[in-house]
Amino acid sequence: MPAVREAAGKTKVADIDWPTWRAVDRATLTFVLQGTRVLLIRKKRGLGAGKVNGPGGRLEPGEEAIDCAVREVEEELGITPLGLEYRGENLFQFVDGYSIHVYAFTASRYRGELRETEEATPLWTDLDSIPYDEMWEDDRLWLPHSLGGLTPQGRYIFDGDRMLDWELEVDGKLYVLRALAEADGPLSARELWSRLSGTGVGLATVYRALQRGVEEGMLESVELLGGGARYEPKDREHHHYFLCSTCDHAFDLYGCVDGLESLVPDGFRLTGHEVVLLGTCDACGDAA
Ligand SMILES: [Zn+2]
Ligand SMILES: [Zn+2]
Repeated sequence: MPAVREAAGKTKVADIDWPTWRAVDRATLTFVLQGTRVLLIRKKRGLGAGKVNGPGGRLEPGEEAIDCAVREVEEELGITPLGLEYRGENLFQFVDGYSIHVYAFTASRYRGELRETEEATPLWTDLDSIPYDEMWEDDRLWLPHSLGGLTPQGRYIFDGDRMLDWELEVDGKLYVLRALAEADGPLSARELWSRLSGTGVGLATVYRALQRGVEEGMLESVELLGGGARYEPKDREHHHYFLCSTCDHAFDLYGCVDGLESLVPDGFRLTGHEVVLLGTCDACGDAA
């Protein structure tokens, strides 16, 4: 395997030709979710023994990743994970030449009785207190995205269990669509970005996701009184806006104005209207 020999000793992600790179091993990690908890393990043997991780292991010859994911959880914890979803993949090159390609999954439920085995001790963990200090160094980079329903794609260089370099691509579109669906009005890219703080999604990713959302017909860009582009889901029913002159946030107003046709001179044809009300919002009014 020439790619394996070529990648040995490399210490930078950029030094490796990833399209031709092939891992020595392929493996899975599976995270069973239950409410606000995730099922982790303390690994008792094998690669990463002693560390906290998700249950998982190497693919057998000819095995599909998703079948491996189910089998490994069964072997390590005695339960069968159900409702599996693909949550991205991570490529690891070790300087000694070893390499592994890991597929991540989440499971929404499971069947059977959870138990400790010779391989693993189960650890139900709150999603906001995942012990990253006791885990592989890369986990804190990508796992929050996988648990948030995204499919991060990572590349890492390790020397033993020390991470030397990494590169991670995260598709922020899901975060962006979710935040816009929950918003009380159209959001600018910067407003969106600040609402996504803590997710690791950067401003450039937000811009890219917005552009793609518009191109794919899921989002609409609105400009209110020359205030720059704001974005909203395209499937919203007919509505107008209240623009706060203090915080510059635009709020959706549902309902419409009667009698606009009577304002239109003879011979003119009305084809649409936009209404923007100006003032201060509840929060800004209180602060004044
Ligand atoms: Zn305001
Ligand atoms: Zn209207």
